[in-house]
Amino acid sequence: MTSTQFRALWLEFHERVRVERDQLNRLDAAIGDADHGTNLDRGLQKVAACAADTTDHLAATCRQVGTVLLSTVGGASGALWGSALLRAAGALPDSDTCDTAAALAALGQGVSAIQARGHAELGDKTMLDVWLPSLEDLDRRLSAGAACGEAVAATAGRAAVLAQDTAPLQARRGRAAYLGPRSVGHVDPGSVSTALFWQALATVLARS
Ligand code: ADP
Ligand code: MG
Repeated sequence: MTSTQFRALWLEFHERVRVERDQLNRLDAAIGDADHGTNLDRGLQKVAACAADTTDHLAATCRQVGTVLLSTVGGASGALWGSALLRAAGALPDSDTCDTAAALAALGQGVSAIQARGHAELGDKTMLDVWLPSLEDLDRRLSAGAACGEAVAATAGRAAVLAQDTAPLQARRGRAAYLGPRSVGHVDPGSVSTALFWQALATVLARS
């Protein structure tokens, strides 16, 4: 991945969140406070503006994205995305390009930060229900010899299914957990936005 692709990723992710903003808010209205789409859209709008303005290398850009998300998204997801990006930056080089192994390591570090900050586990009906199995899916495909772009595209498809698969789960973390059994039957909004991130990554990699 190059720093140009990395910046394009955030523009693409923002575009997808912008289009789906109302739907993400509707999902959050059912089991939360109806702000997930608005939260992410606001933060990513700022990220997109900053990304368009910088020529920094990968690690610095990733740190900047994390800082902006922490300060502008708000809600649980802002803290979680911000922590993820700040931790992921540590696995990225101070240069304009990184290999697949470094990109995978950065994704892994980001997900570890989400776990450390939010204390959620697989099955708790949070964005981790997409992040954890998606990362495993990508790792498996790459280990089996798939080309990076094809592997990410396939993982993005899987992520969309995983997001829908959160519906039957009962929430045990985040605002939705207050609903207890009443959270069952609704798709988790943070899982849907995470699937949008994977789709954005696949789109950016397919362009080059
Ligand atoms: P808030 O719940 O503070 O309003 P958002 O609506 O922006 O924040 O984000 C809600 C999403 O954040 C949930 O759908 C869920 O995926 C994710 N989330 C909430 N708490 C946690 C947690 N402890 N660990 C991982 N993800 C979480
Ligand atoms: Mg919310």
